[in-house]
Amino acid sequence: MAELEYLTVAQALQIVLDGVSVLPTETVPLLDSLNRILAQPVVARDSLPPFANSSMDGYALRAADLSGATADTPATLRVLADIAAGSDVDVTVTEGTAVRIMTGAPIPPGADAVVPVEDTNEPWRDEKRPLPSHIQIHRQVQAGDYVRGIGEDIRAGEQIIAAGQQIRPQEIGVMAALGVGETAVIRRPRVAVLATGDELINVEESLRPGKIRNSNGYAQTAQIAALGAIPIPLGIARDTEEDVRTRLQIGIEMGVDLFVSSAGVSVGAYDVVKAVLESEGNVGFWRVRMRPGKPLAYGKYHGIPYLGLPGNPVSSMVSFERFARPAILKMGGHAQLDRPQVMVTLKEEIESDGRESYIRAVVMREGDGYTAVTTGGQGSHMMTSLVKANALLIIPEGIKHVPIGQQLQAMMINWPETVF
Ligand code: AMP
Ligand code: MG
Repeated sequence: MAELEYLTVAQALQIVLDGVSVLPTETVPLLDSLNRILAQPVVARDSLPPFANSSMDGYALRAADLSGATADTPATLRVLADIAAGSDVDVTVTEGTAVRIMTGAPIPPGADAVVPVEDTNEPWRDEKRPLPSHIQIHRQVQAGDYVRGIGEDIRAGEQIIAAGQQIRPQEIGVMAALGVGETAVIRRPRVAVLATGDELINVEESLRPGKIRNSNGYAQTAQIAALGAIPIPLGIARDTEEDVRTRLQIGIEMGVDLFVSSAGVSVGAYDVVKAVLESEGNVGFWRVRMRPGKPLAYGKYHGIPYLGLPGNPVSSMVSFERFARPAILKMGGHAQLDRPQVMVTLKEEIESDGRESYIRAVVMREGDGYTAVTTGGQGSHMMTSLVKANALLIIPEGIKHVPIGQQLQAMMINWPETVF
Protein backbone atom coordinates (compact mmCIF):
# COMPACT_ATOMS: atom_id res chain seq x y z
CA MET A 1 0.00 0.00 0.00
CA ALA A 2 1.31 3.41 -0.92
CA GLU A 3 2.08 6.06 1.69
CA LEU A 4 -0.74 8.52 2.38
CA GLU A 5 -3.23 6.98 0.08
CA TYR A 6 -6.50 8.88 -0.20
CA LEU A 7 -9.56 6.63 0.05
CA THR A 8 -13.30 7.08 0.23
CA VAL A 9 -15.07 5.69 3.28
CA ALA A 10 -16.56 2.89 1.18
CA GLN A 11 -13.16 1.91 -0.23
CA ALA A 12 -11.53 1.91 3.19
CA LEU A 13 -14.37 -0.14 4.70
CA GLN A 14 -14.16 -2.70 1.91
CA ILE A 15 -10.42 -3.22 2.46
CA VAL A 16 -10.90 -3.54 6.22
CA LEU A 17 -13.71 -6.07 5.83
CA ASP A 18 -11.78 -8.09 3.25
CA GLY A 19 -8.90 -8.34 5.72
CA VAL A 20 -10.84 -10.11 8.48
CA SER A 21 -12.57 -13.49 8.48
CA VAL A 22 -15.26 -15.19 10.49
CA LEU A 23 -13.74 -16.82 13.57
CA PRO A 24 -13.96 -20.57 14.28
CA THR A 25 -16.79 -22.29 16.11
CA GLU A 26 -16.89 -23.22 19.79
CA THR A 27 -19.41 -25.15 21.85
CA VAL A 28 -20.92 -23.44 24.87
CA PRO A 29 -23.64 -24.28 27.42
CA LEU A 30 -27.06 -23.28 26.13
CA LEU A 31 -27.49 -20.16 28.26
CA ASP A 32 -24.04 -18.86 27.33
CA SER A 33 -25.14 -18.73 23.71
CA LEU A 34 -27.43 -15.72 24.25
CA ASN A 35 -26.65 -12.99 21.67
CA ARG A 36 -24.10 -15.22 19.95
CA ILE A 37 -24.24 -16.37 16.34
CA LEU A 38 -25.31 -19.95 15.77
CA ALA A 39 -22.64 -21.84 13.82
CA GLN A 40 -24.65 -24.96 12.93
CA PRO A 41 -28.36 -25.29 12.24
CA VAL A 42 -30.57 -26.65 15.00
CA VAL A 43 -32.50 -29.72 13.81
CA ALA A 44 -35.34 -31.01 15.97
CA ARG A 45 -34.67 -34.40 17.46
CA ASP A 46 -38.23 -34.54 18.89
CA SER A 47 -41.64 -33.36 17.80
CA LEU A 48 -43.33 -30.58 19.75
CA PRO A 49 -45.72 -31.06 21.36
CA PRO A 50 -44.32 -34.55 21.90
CA PHE A 51 -47.85 -35.91 22.61
CA ALA A 52 -51.40 -34.61 22.04
CA ASN A 53 -52.44 -32.62 25.09
CA SER A 54 -55.18 -30.41 26.42
CA SER A 55 -55.01 -26.63 25.97
CA MET A 56 -57.57 -26.06 28.77
CA ASP A 57 -58.58 -27.32 32.18
CA GLY A 58 -61.74 -29.31 31.40
CA TYR A 59 -63.02 -32.70 30.31
CA ALA A 60 -61.62 -34.89 27.55
CA LEU A 61 -64.38 -36.71 25.69
CA ARG A 62 -65.73 -37.79 22.33
CA ALA A 63 -67.14 -34.81 20.39
CA ALA A 64 -69.84 -37.14 19.00
CA ASP A 65 -71.28 -37.64 22.53
CA LEU A 66 -72.26 -33.97 22.72
CA SER A 67 -74.52 -33.76 19.67
CA GLY A 68 -77.55 -31.76 20.72
CA ALA A 69 -76.04 -30.48 23.99
CA THR A 70 -77.07 -26.88 24.85
CA ALA A 71 -77.22 -24.77 28.01
CA ASP A 72 -80.84 -25.91 28.54
CA THR A 73 -80.37 -29.54 27.51
CA PRO A 74 -76.86 -30.50 28.69
CA ALA A 75 -75.31 -33.86 27.86
CA THR A 76 -74.42 -36.00 30.88
CA LEU A 77 -71.23 -38.07 30.80
CA ARG A 78 -69.74 -40.44 33.35
CA VAL A 79 -66.35 -39.30 34.66
CA LEU A 80 -63.75 -42.09 34.59
CA ALA A 81 -60.60 -40.50 35.96
CA ASP A 82 -58.57 -37.40 36.61
CA ILE A 83 -55.46 -36.66 34.50
CA ALA A 84 -53.03 -34.09 35.85
CA ALA A 85 -50.23 -32.47 33.84
CA GLY A 86 -47.19 -34.72 33.90
CA SER A 87 -49.19 -37.86 34.58
CA ASP A 88 -49.54 -40.85 32.32
CA VAL A 89 -52.95 -42.33 33.14
CA ASP A 90 -53.94 -45.55 31.49
CA VAL A 91 -57.62 -44.95 30.77
CA THR A 92 -59.66 -45.10 27.56
CA VAL A 93 -62.62 -42.82 26.92
CA THR A 94 -65.60 -44.75 25.57
CA GLU A 95 -69.09 -43.70 24.50
CA GLY A 96 -70.83 -41.70 27.24
CA THR A 97 -67.70 -41.13 29.34
CA ALA A 98 -65.19 -38.36 29.97
CA VAL A 99 -62.03 -37.76 32.00
CA ARG A 100 -61.20 -34.62 33.94
CA ILE A 101 -58.03 -33.18 32.44
CA MET A 102 -55.64 -30.33 33.15
CA THR A 103 -53.88 -28.03 30.72
CA GLY A 104 -50.87 -29.81 29.24
CA ALA A 105 -52.00 -33.30 30.29
CA PRO A 106 -52.05 -36.03 27.62
CA ILE A 107 -55.35 -36.65 25.80
CA PRO A 108 -56.39 -40.20 26.70
CA PRO A 109 -57.10 -42.75 23.98
CA GLY A 110 -60.68 -42.61 22.70
CA ALA A 111 -61.10 -38.88 23.41
CA ASP A 112 -60.94 -36.46 20.49
CA ALA A 113 -61.82 -33.11 22.12
CA VAL A 114 -61.79 -31.17 25.38
CA VAL A 115 -64.59 -29.06 26.87
CA PRO A 116 -63.40 -26.25 29.15
CA VAL A 117 -64.65 -26.41 32.75
CA GLU A 118 -66.50 -23.14 32.20
CA ASP A 119 -68.91 -24.97 29.91
CA THR A 120 -69.84 -27.63 32.49
CA ASN A 121 -71.77 -27.76 35.75
CA GLU A 122 -68.46 -28.12 37.70
CA PRO A 123 -66.81 -24.72 38.02
CA TRP A 124 -63.77 -26.53 39.47
CA ARG A 125 -61.86 -23.57 40.76
CA ASP A 126 -60.76 -25.48 43.83
CA GLU A 127 -58.10 -28.13 43.43
CA LYS A 128 -59.39 -30.11 46.39
CA ARG A 129 -62.83 -30.50 44.86
CA PRO A 130 -63.51 -34.25 44.58
CA LEU A 131 -63.79 -35.81 41.17
CA PRO A 132 -67.52 -35.79 40.24
CA SER A 133 -69.07 -39.09 39.19
CA HIS A 134 -70.93 -37.39 36.35
CA ILE A 135 -70.53 -34.14 34.48
CA GLN A 136 -73.06 -32.05 32.61
CA ILE A 137 -71.85 -30.29 29.49
CA HIS A 138 -73.63 -27.29 28.05
CA ARG A 139 -72.27 -27.08 24.54
CA GLN A 140 -71.09 -29.00 21.52
CA VAL A 141 -67.49 -29.20 20.32
CA GLN A 142 -65.75 -30.30 17.13
CA ALA A 143 -63.24 -33.13 17.17
CA GLY A 144 -59.86 -31.52 17.84
CA ASP A 145 -61.20 -28.60 19.89
CA TYR A 146 -58.83 -27.58 22.73
CA VAL A 147 -56.43 -30.35 21.71
CA ARG A 148 -52.82 -29.44 20.87
CA GLY A 149 -51.80 -32.07 18.34
CA ILE A 150 -48.52 -33.96 18.36
CA GLY A 151 -45.91 -32.15 16.22
CA GLU A 152 -48.23 -29.17 15.67
CA ASP A 153 -45.37 -26.77 16.37
CA ILE A 154 -42.28 -28.77 15.38
CA ARG A 155 -41.83 -32.08 13.59
CA ALA A 156 -38.83 -34.26 14.45
CA GLY A 157 -36.14 -33.87 11.79
CA GLU A 158 -37.18 -30.34 10.81
CA GLN A 159 -34.58 -27.50 10.78
CA ILE A 160 -35.75 -25.02 13.40
CA ILE A 161 -32.96 -22.40 13.53
CA ALA A 162 -30.61 -21.63 10.67
CA ALA A 163 -26.86 -21.20 11.08
CA GLY A 164 -26.02 -17.50 11.25
CA GLN A 165 -29.00 -16.61 13.40
CA GLN A 166 -28.28 -14.42 16.40
CA ILE A 167 -29.57 -16.24 19.45
CA ARG A 168 -32.33 -14.42 21.31
CA PRO A 169 -34.30 -15.60 24.36
CA GLN A 170 -36.86 -17.26 22.10
CA GLU A 171 -34.15 -19.36 20.40
CA ILE A 172 -32.86 -20.35 23.85
CA GLY A 173 -36.40 -21.41 24.77
CA VAL A 174 -36.96 -23.54 21.69
CA MET A 175 -33.54 -25.17 22.03
CA ALA A 176 -34.34 -26.02 25.65
CA ALA A 177 -37.66 -27.52 24.54
CA LEU A 178 -35.77 -29.66 22.04
CA GLY A 179 -33.21 -30.85 24.57
CA VAL A 180 -30.28 -28.92 23.12
CA GLY A 181 -28.07 -28.36 26.16
CA GLU A 182 -25.00 -27.10 24.30
CA THR A 183 -24.77 -24.83 21.31
CA ALA A 184 -22.20 -24.43 18.52
CA VAL A 185 -21.56 -20.71 18.14
CA ILE A 186 -18.94 -18.46 16.54
CA ARG A 187 -16.13 -17.61 18.93
CA ARG A 188 -16.23 -14.08 20.40
CA PRO A 189 -13.55 -11.85 18.87
CA ARG A 190 -10.76 -10.89 21.27
CA VAL A 191 -9.95 -7.28 20.52
CA ALA A 192 -6.90 -5.50 21.95
CA VAL A 193 -7.28 -1.83 22.86
CA LEU A 194 -4.15 0.33 22.91
CA ALA A 195 -4.09 4.03 23.76
CA THR A 196 -0.96 5.94 22.86
CA GLY A 197 0.41 9.31 23.90
CA ASP A 198 2.67 10.95 26.48
CA GLU A 199 -0.16 13.31 27.40
CA LEU A 200 -2.44 10.53 28.65
CA ILE A 201 -3.12 9.74 32.29
CA ASN A 202 -5.42 7.19 33.87
CA VAL A 203 -9.02 7.87 34.76
CA GLU A 204 -8.40 7.91 38.50
CA GLU A 205 -5.49 10.36 38.29
CA SER A 206 -5.85 14.12 38.91
CA LEU A 207 -5.24 16.41 35.99
CA ARG A 208 -1.76 17.95 35.76
CA PRO A 209 -0.48 20.57 33.35
CA GLY A 210 -0.45 19.27 29.80
CA LYS A 211 -2.16 16.00 30.62
CA ILE A 212 -5.58 14.62 29.66
CA ARG A 213 -7.27 11.43 30.71
CA ASN A 214 -7.27 8.41 28.45
CA SER A 215 -10.87 8.55 27.30
CA ASN A 216 -10.36 6.62 24.06
CA GLY A 217 -9.18 3.50 25.82
CA TYR A 218 -12.38 3.40 27.83
CA ALA A 219 -14.71 4.36 24.99
CA GLN A 220 -13.21 1.74 22.68
CA THR A 221 -13.30 -0.93 25.37
CA ALA A 222 -16.99 -0.16 25.83
CA GLN A 223 -17.64 -0.15 22.08
CA ILE A 224 -16.05 -3.60 21.84
CA ALA A 225 -17.96 -4.97 24.82
CA ALA A 226 -21.23 -3.58 23.41
CA LEU A 227 -20.72 -5.81 20.36
CA GLY A 228 -20.42 -8.95 22.46
CA ALA A 229 -16.69 -9.14 21.72
CA ILE A 230 -13.99 -9.46 24.40
CA PRO A 231 -11.91 -6.31 24.98
CA ILE A 232 -8.29 -6.90 25.96
CA PRO A 233 -6.99 -3.60 27.38
CA LEU A 234 -3.30 -2.99 26.68
CA GLY A 235 -3.20 0.27 28.64
CA ILE A 236 -1.41 3.44 27.61
CA ALA A 237 1.73 3.25 25.51
CA ARG A 238 4.11 6.16 25.94
CA ASP A 239 5.36 7.82 22.79
CA THR A 240 8.32 5.48 22.44
CA GLU A 241 8.58 2.70 19.92
CA GLU A 242 9.76 0.34 22.62
CA ASP A 243 6.65 0.81 24.77
CA VAL A 244 4.32 0.39 21.79
CA ARG A 245 6.16 -2.80 20.78
CA THR A 246 6.08 -4.22 24.31
CA ARG A 247 2.34 -3.71 24.61
CA LEU A 248 1.56 -5.11 21.18
CA GLN A 249 3.64 -8.15 22.12
CA ILE A 250 1.42 -8.67 25.18
CA GLY A 251 -1.58 -8.64 22.82
CA ILE A 252 0.05 -11.27 20.62
CA GLU A 253 0.72 -13.44 23.65
CA MET A 254 -2.89 -13.06 24.78
CA GLY A 255 -4.07 -14.41 21.44
CA VAL A 256 -5.96 -11.36 20.22
CA ASP A 257 -7.85 -11.51 16.92
CA LEU A 258 -7.64 -7.78 16.20
CA PHE A 259 -5.69 -4.75 17.45
CA VAL A 260 -7.44 -1.42 17.76
CA SER A 261 -5.30 1.55 18.76
CA SER A 262 -5.93 5.26 18.95
CA ALA A 263 -3.67 8.15 18.02
CA GLY A 264 -0.14 8.24 16.75
CA VAL A 265 -0.99 7.47 13.13
CA SER A 266 -0.74 10.90 11.53
CA VAL A 267 2.42 12.65 10.42
CA GLY A 268 3.62 14.23 13.66
CA ALA A 269 7.14 13.71 14.95
CA TYR A 270 5.82 11.63 17.87
CA ASP A 271 3.63 9.33 15.81
CA VAL A 272 5.39 6.27 17.13
CA VAL A 273 2.58 3.82 16.36
CA LYS A 274 3.18 4.61 12.74
CA ALA A 275 6.89 4.06 13.14
CA VAL A 276 6.41 0.66 14.80
CA LEU A 277 3.86 -0.52 12.26
CA GLU A 278 6.04 0.61 9.39
CA SER A 279 9.01 -1.34 10.70
CA GLU A 280 7.25 -4.56 11.72
CA GLY A 281 3.87 -4.65 10.14
CA ASN A 282 2.35 -4.88 6.75
CA VAL A 283 0.27 -1.79 7.26
CA GLY A 284 -1.10 0.96 5.04
CA PHE A 285 -1.57 4.51 6.21
CA TRP A 286 -4.58 6.14 4.71
CA ARG A 287 -6.18 9.50 4.49
CA VAL A 288 -9.87 8.65 4.45
CA ARG A 289 -12.05 11.37 2.97
CA MET A 290 -14.17 11.40 6.09
CA ARG A 291 -15.11 13.90 8.81
CA PRO A 292 -14.50 13.42 11.65
CA GLY A 293 -11.66 11.03 11.05
CA LYS A 294 -9.12 11.04 8.26
CA PRO A 295 -5.95 9.27 9.36
CA LEU A 296 -6.40 5.52 9.54
CA ALA A 297 -3.86 2.73 9.65
CA TYR A 298 -4.84 -0.71 8.55
CA GLY A 299 -3.06 -3.98 7.90
CA LYS A 300 -1.44 -6.87 9.73
CA TYR A 301 0.94 -6.74 12.67
CA HIS A 302 2.70 -10.09 13.06
CA GLY A 303 -0.17 -11.60 11.07
CA ILE A 304 -2.94 -10.11 13.23
CA PRO A 305 -5.34 -7.54 11.72
CA TYR A 306 -4.52 -4.05 13.00
CA LEU A 307 -6.71 -0.96 12.90
CA GLY A 308 -5.10 2.31 13.97
CA LEU A 309 -7.75 4.94 14.64
CA PRO A 310 -7.24 8.68 15.01
CA GLY A 311 -6.60 10.17 18.46
CA ASN A 312 -9.26 12.82 18.79
CA PRO A 313 -12.03 11.31 20.90
CA VAL A 314 -14.89 11.83 18.46
CA SER A 315 -12.79 10.85 15.44
CA SER A 316 -11.78 7.75 17.32
CA MET A 317 -15.35 6.76 18.18
CA VAL A 318 -16.80 7.57 14.78
CA SER A 319 -13.98 5.74 12.99
CA PHE A 320 -14.61 2.80 15.28
CA GLU A 321 -18.28 2.92 14.30
CA ARG A 322 -17.46 3.04 10.63
CA PHE A 323 -14.59 0.54 10.41
CA ALA A 324 -13.93 -1.42 13.60
CA ARG A 325 -17.55 -2.22 14.41
CA PRO A 326 -18.36 -3.88 11.07
CA ALA A 327 -15.03 -5.74 11.12
CA ILE A 328 -15.64 -7.11 14.64
CA LEU A 329 -19.21 -8.06 13.76
CA LYS A 330 -17.97 -9.89 10.67
CA MET A 331 -15.41 -11.80 12.74
CA GLY A 332 -18.16 -12.72 15.18
CA GLY A 333 -20.24 -14.21 12.37
CA HIS A 334 -22.90 -11.50 12.10
CA ALA A 335 -24.67 -11.03 8.77
CA GLN A 336 -25.92 -7.53 9.58
CA LEU A 337 -22.83 -5.32 9.83
CA ASP A 338 -24.41 -1.89 9.47
CA ARG A 339 -26.39 0.20 11.88
CA PRO A 340 -29.99 0.72 10.78
CA GLN A 341 -30.42 3.84 8.66
CA VAL A 342 -33.48 6.02 8.20
CA MET A 343 -34.21 8.95 5.91
CA VAL A 344 -34.60 12.16 7.91
CA THR A 345 -35.64 15.72 7.10
CA LEU A 346 -33.21 18.34 8.36
CA LYS A 347 -34.55 21.04 10.66
CA GLU A 348 -31.45 23.18 10.40
CA GLU A 349 -28.88 23.86 7.71
CA ILE A 350 -25.47 22.22 7.90
CA GLU A 351 -22.14 23.22 6.39
CA SER A 352 -19.65 20.56 5.40
CA ASP A 353 -16.21 20.55 3.79
CA GLY A 354 -16.82 18.11 0.97
CA ARG A 355 -15.60 15.03 2.84
CA GLU A 356 -18.17 12.33 3.70
CA SER A 357 -19.36 13.72 7.02
CA TYR A 358 -20.88 12.07 10.06
CA ILE A 359 -22.81 14.76 11.90
CA ARG A 360 -23.85 14.13 15.50
CA ALA A 361 -27.61 14.62 15.69
CA VAL A 362 -30.86 13.75 17.39
CA VAL A 363 -33.37 12.00 15.17
CA MET A 364 -37.00 12.31 16.21
CA ARG A 365 -40.21 10.82 14.98
CA GLU A 366 -42.43 13.56 13.56
CA GLY A 367 -45.69 12.87 11.72
CA ASP A 368 -45.12 10.04 9.26
CA GLY A 369 -41.36 10.39 9.16
CA TYR A 370 -38.23 11.44 10.98
CA THR A 371 -36.61 14.81 11.50
CA ALA A 372 -33.16 15.67 12.78
CA VAL A 373 -31.31 18.49 14.54
CA THR A 374 -27.60 18.57 15.24
CA THR A 375 -26.40 18.32 18.83
CA GLY A 376 -24.02 21.26 18.80
CA GLY A 377 -20.29 21.68 18.26
CA GLN A 378 -18.96 19.23 15.70
CA GLY A 379 -15.27 19.60 16.51
CA SER A 380 -13.53 16.23 16.75
CA HIS A 381 -12.71 16.90 20.42
CA MET A 382 -16.34 17.76 21.37
CA MET A 383 -17.54 14.67 23.19
CA THR A 384 -20.72 16.27 24.56
CA SER A 385 -22.32 16.44 21.14
CA LEU A 386 -21.81 12.69 20.86
CA VAL A 387 -23.30 12.18 24.31
CA LYS A 388 -26.46 14.03 23.23
CA ALA A 389 -26.72 12.25 19.88
CA ASN A 390 -28.73 9.20 18.92
CA ALA A 391 -27.62 9.25 15.28
CA LEU A 392 -24.95 10.29 12.83
CA LEU A 393 -26.28 12.12 9.77
CA ILE A 394 -24.35 11.18 6.67
CA ILE A 395 -23.52 14.05 4.34
CA PRO A 396 -22.25 12.49 1.12
CA GLU A 397 -18.88 13.36 -0.34
CA GLY A 398 -18.74 16.49 -2.46
CA ILE A 399 -21.51 18.38 -0.65
CA LYS A 400 -20.64 21.54 1.25
CA HIS A 401 -24.03 22.96 2.16
CA VAL A 402 -27.19 21.15 3.19
CA PRO A 403 -30.27 23.42 3.45
CA ILE A 404 -33.19 23.14 5.89
CA GLY A 405 -35.77 20.64 4.65
CA GLN A 406 -33.17 18.52 2.86
CA GLN A 407 -33.39 14.76 3.29
CA LEU A 408 -30.37 12.85 4.57
CA GLN A 409 -29.59 9.31 5.67
CA ALA A 410 -29.17 8.95 9.43
CA MET A 411 -27.10 6.11 10.84
CA MET A 412 -28.88 5.26 14.09
CA ILE A 413 -26.43 4.63 16.91
CA ASN A 414 -29.31 4.07 19.33
CA TRP A 415 -32.33 2.39 17.92
CA PRO A 416 -35.17 2.44 18.49
CA GLU A 417 -35.31 3.33 22.21
CA THR A 418 -34.41 6.96 21.80
CA VAL A 419 -36.64 7.61 18.81
CA PHE A 420 -40.02 6.24 19.85
P1 AMP B 1 -2.45 12.24 17.89
O1 AMP B 1 -3.06 11.41 16.80
O2 AMP B 1 -1.52 11.45 18.74
O3 AMP B 1 -1.83 13.48 17.33
O4 AMP B 1 -3.65 12.70 18.82
C1 AMP B 1 -4.67 13.55 18.34
C2 AMP B 1 -5.44 14.17 19.49
O5 AMP B 1 -6.13 13.15 20.18
C3 AMP B 1 -4.59 14.88 20.52
O6 AMP B 1 -5.27 16.04 20.94
C4 AMP B 1 -4.49 13.86 21.62
O7 AMP B 1 -4.27 14.43 22.88
C5 AMP B 1 -5.86 13.23 21.59
N1 AMP B 1 -5.82 11.88 22.14
C6 AMP B 1 -4.97 10.91 21.75
N2 AMP B 1 -5.19 9.77 22.43
C7 AMP B 1 -6.21 10.03 23.29
C8 AMP B 1 -6.90 9.24 24.26
N3 AMP B 1 -6.56 7.98 24.48
N4 AMP B 1 -7.90 9.82 24.95
C9 AMP B 1 -8.24 11.10 24.71
N5 AMP B 1 -7.65 11.88 23.79
C10 AMP B 1 -6.63 11.37 23.09
MG1 MG C 1 -0.09 11.44 20.12
